[in-house]
Amino acid sequence: MPDIAKDQLALEEARKFAGREHGLFIDGAWMAPRSGSTFETFNPGDGSRIGHAAAGGEADVDLAVRAARAALEGPWADMKPSERARLLWRLADAIEAHADEFALLETLNNGKPLRDARMFDVPHAVEVLRYNAGWTTKLNGESVNLSGPGTWHAYTVREPVGVVAAIVPWNAPLAMAVAKTAPALAAGCTIILKPAEQTPLTAIRLAHLVEQVGFPKGVFNLVTGLGEAAGAALVAHAGVDKVTFTGSTEVGRLIVKGATANMKRVTLELGGKTPVIVMPDADINRAIEGAARSIFTNAGQICNAGSRLFAHESVFDALVEGVADFAGKLRVGPGLDPNTQMGPVVSAEQRERVLGYIEAGLRDGAKISGQGTAASGPGYFVPPTVLTGTNSQMSVVREEIFGPVLCAMSFSDRDLDAIAAQANDTDYGLGAIVWTQNLSAAHKLARKIKAGTVRVNGGGLDPALPFGGFKQSGWGRENGREGIEAYTEVKSIAIAL
Ligand code: NDP
Repeated sequence: MPDIAKDQLALEEARKFAGREHGLFIDGAWMAPRSGSTFETFNPGDGSRIGHAAAGGEADVDLAVRAARAALEGPWADMKPSERARLLWRLADAIEAHADEFALLETLNNGKPLRDARMFDVPHAVEVLRYNAGWTTKLNGESVNLSGPGTWHAYTVREPVGVVAAIVPWNAPLAMAVAKTAPALAAGCTIILKPAEQTPLTAIRLAHLVEQVGFPKGVFNLVTGLGEAAGAALVAHAGVDKVTFTGSTEVGRLIVKGATANMKRVTLELGGKTPVIVMPDADINRAIEGAARSIFTNAGQICNAGSRLFAHESVFDALVEGVADFAGKLRVGPGLDPNTQMGPVVSAEQRERVLGYIEAGLRDGAKISGQGTAASGPGYFVPPTVLTGTNSQMSVVREEIFGPVLCAMSFSDRDLDAIAAQANDTDYGLGAIVWTQNLSAAHKLARKIKAGTVRVNGGGLDPALPFGGFKQSGWGRENGREGIEAYTEVKSIAIAL
């Protein structure tokens, strides 16, 4: 039984936190931005203003980068890997101890259903911290046998890449902040985190816990602010060694350009247009539910959302009908409402963008084969929508909508090359989902599809499984060994004996 009085109290506390005067967290201290400016933050569930955050600018970024550099060269550098691990575990424990507060803040600020924040976002952040804590003691080099003249003892070591700027989006604010912070700190780097302007609150709360668990000052810095100010200043700063970014491909390009002056290392996790391929032998009921959840979870605001459905013609109608029925029954509403299954999108701007895509699809000849009901009220609600009659020339099929809009298409040819070619007909290459009972077809398709992750008959994120994109979906990988190694430089050492 939910304890409504306790929940109400927790919500009041979260609201109070949201409404507080928030500063920037630089060099282990909270401070006002040099400009004195702030920006407002909203609850997408009802459009209400819930607080404001400090608008960091170039001068603040400079201070944060200097603090991160000093920390990198200070006691943090001498800290044993196991001590770094203990700090990361402590941070994970602290988030877990405040799990409900984090979930409420995430829902208040991002709009997602509270149950999703509780079941996915917060536990995932905790797991990512613990997973990366385990890597601190295992980041080894190797000894290398050389064949040239002389006798050599040669080996490699992995060193932290240095000062990291992490620029993150609004769709999973805590999970994204931790996805960058955990491996960066595990590898011995220092970090400056810039959350999205729409969703600064859980990052601010995270900084309070970083302070509480005892990381040395300057190791983790938080600069809230706007992308074109704080974000661009971080990308341009000569004291930053690496930028790790998740967001749109458009901003990803700007980051690459900005990072070239001092040849920063860059990791980019960009957009996606994930194909969901349903073979004629698939378990149709599971495929229907999987396809629907893949596009409607988080109101479609997931880089890896299954936004293009390709179903064999023999199962196409059943699939479309099933997903349309799912959409029709979805309870769309504010994230704080316990009955809500799909929340609003993050902002009025994002709602206009998504609705604009649906209109463009209809203008191009698509038709709506199923649509749920957007909640009434001032929140930024979008109806979950299934479009048919779409083709690969249409913007709804080519571009990342980042909303609850599925484009369903059929195929008749059972040739796996033809199916893969259809799935690969996109600028993106983040993920793919295949539904089939045929093991051989599953493995063959997995090899033919040009995407960073291929899931068969279901899926989910795991901190141990590398995640990232082919083509315009990004550079590099997060999670797994590749994820943490991306925060290191390899140094080769050769000693003539
Ligand atoms: P952006 O790519 O603009 O935002 C991501 C982050 O980059 C934010 O922190 C943003 O700051 C920052 N940023 C923006 N401009 C710059 C810049 N010039 N230099 C450095 N940092 C910058 O995403 P949007 O919020 O504009 O969303 C637009 C579309 O992007 C979505 O509809 C979706 O298609 C895609 N997207 C993809 C995501 C993914 O996970 N792959 C996540 C989010 C969006 P600020 O918040 O102040 O703008």
